[in-house]
Amino acid sequence: MLNIDLSGKRALVAGVADDGGFGFAIAKALAKAGATVCIGTWPPALGIFTTLLTRGKFAASLDLGDGQTLAFERIYPLDADFDTDADMPQATRENKRYRELGDVSIEGLANRLRADFGEPCLDILVHSLANGPDVKKPLLQTSRRGYLAAVGTSAYSLTSLVARLAPIMCPNGSVLALSYLAGERVVPGYGGGMSSAKAALESDVRTLAYEAGRAHGLRINALSAGPFPSRAASAIGMIAASIAYYQANSPLPESVTAAEVANTAAFLLSPLASGITGTTLYVDKGYHAMGVAPAAIPNKENL
Ligand code: NAD
Repeated sequence: MLNIDLSGKRALVAGVADDGGFGFAIAKALAKAGATVCIGTWPPALGIFTTLLTRGKFAASLDLGDGQTLAFERIYPLDADFDTDADMPQATRENKRYRELGDVSIEGLANRLRADFGEPCLDILVHSLANGPDVKKPLLQTSRRGYLAAVGTSAYSLTSLVARLAPIMCPNGSVLALSYLAGERVVPGYGGGMSSAKAALESDVRTLAYEAGRAHGLRINALSAGPFPSRAASAIGMIAASIAYYQANSPLPESVTAAEVANTAAFLLSPLASGITGTTLYVDKGYHAMGVAPAAIPNKENL
């Protein structure tokens, strides 16, 4: 039998703050495949997440289904807007959600991993985070500041993570980022520079695959997922309509599940995908293949 076997491997999933998004589902799939999973959580969401976790509110979601329960090896505070501690503005440093946490930068994360596990210590890195303050605004109404914030948080953070974690990654390590079709086609409503961020992210996946492949032997890929009602996607404000549109117009008329995205992630991050790098793979029920929206065509009985 051909199995996804990640036993003995350690993963870091950056971008888990509840049990409703792709990051959590990917963490679960990696654990089911045998990996040990650490997560990186955004400081503003960390307190509520750990409280709910401690109170057992995620018990059902943490059930791996084989008598095992997902237990995070470490939960690291991570603000992917900051490459080093010195980059953090004083106001953020003094914010009550940050001031007790120490160095929450990407470099801080690398240092914590090094201190906790030595080096090399990491086999798998998942970038499952995004943020764009102007996401509800069309690109034409997006400020420079909002645009750069979207690209900084949602795209550059991958480059920074790879630059700082690659030196502590094990031979044959693997990296995965989460993208969306709006990076290559027009998706009205996905604004604020978020489409630009996804375009940059996918381009960076290719370039980083080359550079970190040659320098560190890493594989780096992206998954382009169909719409899913995570907390971040729901905040954009059109997720239900987007899901309905995909259902009406995709080759497979069901909406994509987090488990489908997570299972594909586990495959790409596993040795079974050792020949795949620099790729963006769609997990969207085939929507990307469509050129015309069937639901919008009049007299479409024969379609
Ligand atoms: P999510 O809310 O579960 O994940 C987004 C995470 O990003 C949250 O945990 C949030 O705390 C974190 N985050 C935001 N700013 C951060 C920062 N500065 N530092 C660290 N973490 C930060 O939502 P999701 O939809 O599962 O998103 C995960 C990834 O999947 C994102 O890259 C998203 O663009 C991508 N994606 C989502 C969809 C969808 O429809 N949900 C579709 C395609 C791609």
